[in-house]
Amino acid sequence: MVCAAVLSNGPVVSKSSCLVKHSRFTLCAAHHTEEHGGDWKSCEVCPKTWPLEMYVWYGTNKWNFEKLENPPSYEPTHCGACGRVIVLSKDGYSVNPDGSHRCMDCWEH
Ligand SMILES: [Zn+2]
Ligand SMILES: [Zn+2]
Ligand SMILES: [Zn+2]
Repeated sequence: MVCAAVLSNGPVVSKSSCLVKHSRFTLCAAHHTEEHGGDWKSCEVCPKTWPLEMYVWYGTNKWNFEKLENPPSYEPTHCGACGRVIVLSKDGYSVNPDGSHRCMDCWEH
Protein backbone atom coordinates (compact mmCIF):
# COMPACT_ATOMS: atom_id res chain seq x y z
CA MET A 1 0.00 0.00 0.00
CA VAL A 2 1.05 3.58 -0.51
CA CYS A 3 2.29 5.05 2.66
CA ALA A 4 -0.12 7.76 3.77
CA ALA A 5 2.30 9.26 6.26
CA VAL A 6 4.58 10.61 3.56
CA LEU A 7 1.74 12.31 1.72
CA SER A 8 1.86 15.16 4.17
CA ASN A 9 0.07 17.62 1.92
CA GLY A 10 -2.59 15.26 0.73
CA PRO A 11 -6.11 14.77 1.99
CA VAL A 12 -5.14 11.65 3.91
CA VAL A 13 -3.41 13.42 6.79
CA SER A 14 -5.04 11.60 9.59
CA LYS A 15 -5.09 12.20 13.29
CA SER A 16 -5.06 8.49 13.93
CA SER A 17 -2.43 7.50 16.43
CA CYS A 18 -1.51 4.71 14.08
CA LEU A 19 -0.19 7.12 11.49
CA VAL A 20 1.46 9.28 14.10
CA LYS A 21 3.29 6.25 15.42
CA HIS A 22 4.13 5.20 11.90
CA SER A 23 5.71 8.55 11.17
CA ARG A 24 7.78 8.40 14.35
CA PHE A 25 8.73 4.78 14.75
CA THR A 26 9.26 3.29 11.31
CA LEU A 27 12.03 3.12 8.78
CA CYS A 28 9.53 3.93 6.09
CA ALA A 29 8.82 7.36 7.53
CA ALA A 30 12.40 8.10 8.60
CA HIS A 31 13.70 7.06 5.23
CA HIS A 32 11.33 9.46 3.49
CA THR A 33 11.93 12.24 5.99
CA GLU A 34 15.69 11.95 5.48
CA GLU A 35 15.12 11.86 1.72
CA HIS A 36 17.33 8.86 1.06
CA GLY A 37 15.45 8.07 -2.13
CA GLY A 38 14.30 4.71 -3.47
CA ASP A 39 12.60 1.97 -1.49
CA TRP A 40 13.27 1.98 2.23
CA LYS A 41 13.44 -1.82 2.32
CA SER A 42 16.49 -1.85 0.06
CA CYS A 43 18.01 1.41 1.30
CA GLU A 44 21.71 1.23 2.12
CA VAL A 45 21.75 4.42 4.14
CA CYS A 46 19.11 3.40 6.69
CA PRO A 47 21.09 0.49 8.23
CA LYS A 48 24.02 2.86 8.78
CA THR A 49 21.88 5.56 10.35
CA TRP A 50 20.79 3.62 13.43
CA PRO A 51 22.22 0.84 15.58
CA LEU A 52 21.34 -2.42 13.79
CA GLU A 53 19.02 -3.45 16.59
CA MET A 54 17.02 -0.24 16.19
CA TYR A 55 17.08 -0.56 12.43
CA VAL A 56 15.49 -4.01 12.68
CA TRP A 57 12.96 -2.79 15.22
CA TYR A 58 12.06 0.25 13.13
CA GLY A 59 11.61 -2.02 10.14
CA THR A 60 9.55 -4.77 11.78
CA ASN A 61 7.44 -3.22 14.52
CA LYS A 62 3.67 -3.16 14.36
CA TRP A 63 3.50 0.40 13.07
CA ASN A 64 4.81 -0.71 9.69
CA PHE A 65 2.40 -1.26 6.83
CA GLU A 66 5.05 -3.34 5.15
CA LYS A 67 7.77 -5.04 7.14
CA LEU A 68 11.38 -5.68 6.40
CA GLU A 69 11.38 -9.09 4.76
CA ASN A 70 14.83 -10.30 5.71
CA PRO A 71 15.90 -8.29 8.72
CA PRO A 72 19.60 -8.70 9.47
CA SER A 73 20.52 -10.48 12.68
CA TYR A 74 22.20 -8.48 15.37
CA GLU A 75 24.01 -9.10 18.60
CA PRO A 76 22.00 -8.11 21.66
CA THR A 77 23.27 -5.05 23.48
CA HIS A 78 24.62 -5.71 26.95
CA CYS A 79 25.06 -3.31 29.81
CA GLY A 80 28.77 -2.60 30.11
CA ALA A 81 28.56 -2.63 33.91
CA CYS A 82 26.24 -5.47 34.99
CA GLY A 83 26.03 -7.37 31.71
CA ARG A 84 22.25 -7.65 31.42
CA VAL A 85 20.73 -7.45 27.95
CA ILE A 86 19.36 -4.03 27.10
CA VAL A 87 16.49 -3.95 24.61
CA LEU A 88 17.19 -0.65 22.90
CA SER A 89 13.63 -0.16 21.70
CA LYS A 90 12.12 -0.69 25.17
CA ASP A 91 14.59 -0.25 27.98
CA GLY A 92 16.05 2.96 29.24
CA TYR A 93 19.77 3.19 28.77
CA SER A 94 22.60 5.63 28.34
CA VAL A 95 25.64 5.45 26.12
CA ASN A 96 29.02 6.22 27.62
CA PRO A 97 31.57 8.30 25.71
CA ASP A 98 33.46 5.08 24.95
CA GLY A 99 30.37 3.69 23.20
CA SER A 100 29.41 1.14 25.85
CA HIS A 101 25.85 1.03 27.11
CA ARG A 102 24.55 1.33 30.64
CA CYS A 103 21.20 0.02 31.82
CA MET A 104 18.93 2.13 34.01
CA ASP A 105 20.33 0.57 37.17
CA CYS A 106 23.92 1.35 36.27
CA TRP A 107 23.26 4.77 34.83
CA GLU A 108 25.91 7.23 35.96
CA HIS A 109 24.17 10.49 36.67
ZN1 LIG B 1 5.56 5.25 5.79
ZN1 LIG C 1 16.82 5.07 3.88
ZN1 LIG D 1 23.61 -2.51 34.22
